[in-house]
Amino acid sequence: MGLNRADLDQGWFAFRRPLLYKQSWRGGMVVVVDPRSTSRTCAACGHVAKDNRPTQSRFKCVACGHTAHVDVNAARNILAAGHAVMVCGGDEPQLAPRCQ
Ligand SMILES: [Zn+2]
Repeated sequence: MGLNRADLDQGWFAFRRPLLYKQSWRGGMVVVVDPRSTSRTCAACGHVAKDNRPTQSRFKCVACGHTAHVDVNAARNILAAGHAVMVCGGDEPQLAPRCQ
């Protein structure tokens, strides 16, 4: 049985609320970023393509040749997006927003 988009969104919302509470209680911070395309975006050059992911676990950029495990590549993109939100600010989650 697969999970549909609404189920997945509900799961993340249920995870996010206690995480925000716990982090505010501890004096920590939660940075929300948009996860869209993080597994298809090259963490080295930023090229976005479905073909960057030739297998379920392997990432290979068709533009620059960068290779990595897809989860490691996506984690680098999410970290960069989080840093961008912290530096540039923003109320809405974004994938690597640019400062204006
Ligand atoms: Zn690349």
